[in-house]
Amino acid sequence: MIRNLLLASSVLALAVLTGAATAATPAVAAANVTDSRLLGAGKEPGQWLSVGGTYEERHFSPLKQITPDNVNKLGLAWFADYDTNLSQQGTPLYIDGVIYVSTAWSKVYAYDAHDGKQLWQYDPKTPGQFAPKICCGIVNRGIAAYKGKIYLGSLDGYLIAIDAKTGKEAWRKQTVDPTKMYSITSAPRIIKGKVVIGNSGGEFGVRGYIGAYDAETGNQVWRFYTVPGNPAEPFENKAMEMAAKTWGGKWWELGGGGTVWDAIVYDAEHDLILFGTGNGSPWNQRLRDPTGGDNLFIASIVAIKADTGEYVWHYQTTPGDTWDYDAMSPIMLVDITQQNQKRKVIMQPNKNGMFYVLDAATGALLKADPFTAVNWNDGVDMKTGRPRVTKEARYDNEKAFNLAPGVQGAHGWHANAYSPDTGLVYIATQRAYFVMQGQNNFVVNPAGANLGINMGAAATYTKDHPDAPRDFVGYISAWDPIQGKEVWHGEPGQGPTGGVLATGGGLVFQGGGNSTKEFRAYDARTGKKVWSMDPQTGVVAAPISYELDGKQYVAVSVGIAATNYYAPNYSRMLVFGIDGKAQLPAPVTYTPPPLNPPALTASAEQVAAGNKLYDQYCNICHGVNGQARTATFPNLMVTPMLHSQEGFDQIVLGGVRAARGMASFADKLKAADTASLRSFLIAQANDLKKRQPAIAPPPPVQPADAHADLGADAKK
Ligand code: CA
Repeated sequence: MIRNLLLASSVLALAVLTGAATAATPAVAAANVTDSRLLGAGKEPGQWLSVGGTYEERHFSPLKQITPDNVNKLGLAWFADYDTNLSQQGTPLYIDGVIYVSTAWSKVYAYDAHDGKQLWQYDPKTPGQFAPKICCGIVNRGIAAYKGKIYLGSLDGYLIAIDAKTGKEAWRKQTVDPTKMYSITSAPRIIKGKVVIGNSGGEFGVRGYIGAYDAETGNQVWRFYTVPGNPAEPFENKAMEMAAKTWGGKWWELGGGGTVWDAIVYDAEHDLILFGTGNGSPWNQRLRDPTGGDNLFIASIVAIKADTGEYVWHYQTTPGDTWDYDAMSPIMLVDITQQNQKRKVIMQPNKNGMFYVLDAATGALLKADPFTAVNWNDGVDMKTGRPRVTKEARYDNEKAFNLAPGVQGAHGWHANAYSPDTGLVYIATQRAYFVMQGQNNFVVNPAGANLGINMGAAATYTKDHPDAPRDFVGYISAWDPIQGKEVWHGEPGQGPTGGVLATGGGLVFQGGGNSTKEFRAYDARTGKKVWSMDPQTGVVAAPISYELDGKQYVAVSVGIAATNYYAPNYSRMLVFGIDGKAQLPAPVTYTPPPLNPPALTASAEQVAAGNKLYDQYCNICHGVNGQARTATFPNLMVTPMLHSQEGFDQIVLGGVRAARGMASFADKLKAADTASLRSFLIAQANDLKKRQPAIAPPPPVQPADAHADLGADAKK
């Protein structure tokens, strides 16, 4: 009897199991990602388990249901709104029916991938006043998943573990010295039970490092500094002793730079972690190291042992960097065949404009070709691996140089993709110029950026050289890494372009970047644009692809800080499938505030004093002369606070907008200072208004037969 009962219950269990296999995949918010799943991610093409898709970080999905032939049927399956109007740069994860994604202000969402139902949202409650410590937007670029937890690097430097089922915080560990200007925007990587992450701050005078933390406890396992500290103190390791020989002056006083703010890949075959390092701090090498050394390991690709963080090899892409040439563009691992020999290589389209191919095991340089406009070198010596630097490119305080790529870079943080089917790398490419000149009377600014260059050099330079190129455009470029040449490229748009996804269906998905409101697909072989849709906003984040209930989907975060801080930017998760029928709601009409400054009453001296303070404290966020560099921060030319010193002071000194990112500057500025600041802004706004063409009133409505009179009017 008992035996029969047991038998019956196991039959029942079997029936339930069989039933589950044919019904829809349930959304299991468990982030059940193990080491073996990460190592074998290629065998689960329907999932997207880590930021780059697999450890190789090729941003390639082998799924092939959506092809150039049927992509015209691709439509919106569902969408979900985010709660900020800032730039969305997070690559989502797709794990077992659930999409996890990070958004601006280091928030994380989990959605049921069937219909976009929000399962939870996590907000680390980053203090708003942290915003001035950020060089490049209040953004987050991705998360990691492992054994039931989602890992996040928060803007203010915490490594945070979130329970994937509930969205509740499991623990947080501070990974940076909060008294220094560190921040985190990049995705953590899970490598052998450890969470590996670096940080940002190379523009703000910090010392770069990458660290590994136990995934269970958050305790630090190892830390590898990328630049040496004060040589009066003991070096942390032999690598730092070696690196210190390439530095002169008192570099440690401003940190040295070399921050690891994104590109981190794990080469499981050689058990190495390969990562890029950022620019030197300050940018201008003459101020950082007057002896002009190579300054290891800034602007380099470095390999360390996964278990211990011990140094193995490095290749410096930009020795003695003085141009903000971070080597932080995403790195991917690719297997190539060379003279019938299989070789594991890493590829990087570097910010300095060169596409590098290095042996993954040894760092040996195999190829270095310019993939966009480059004028700081005329090639790389393949014997020594060193670039032949153009003499004029090392600008000084007198002579300016119209640098290509400019400090905007040939490439930013945006994901590139590699398709093993076409053998091409799809690069989010930039062509950019920037006039470089040293800054006279450089003084260290403890509260802001320390670059050491004359930010206003372009104005004088372009007056003297009216024909000098000064474009800054972004476009997708399909690059043959073996031949070292471009195969096709997309239409350029103003500013950076979007991150890329390549698929086994022969498609490349990409957003139109900052200026082109478009999400589109190209034929991976020909570059023909075969599909596009209007996301109502810019798209810079990398798309992913996954399979749910036997059907392929493409998901992407959209939203780029609007042209005006207060304008809606339609930040959302968009998910597409064949025959998707969802519709975005119509965008709302928005009228930007008018340029309407009060009359200038302050003296020229007061305006000049305000200008100086502005450059020191405000420029980094609010842009040159108060004209917002991005819409991450309000455009001060049109702020109503120009009309009220009291209102201005409540914000600048009183900190009433701290939660939204505008810290109180009461510890740095006095009432007399803010009066000068406001008068400078009023002067700038009046200047701007004078330069704007008067807006003509709309023409009177003409009666239909008025044409006959036009000739007569024209003669009067
Ligand atoms: Ca940089």
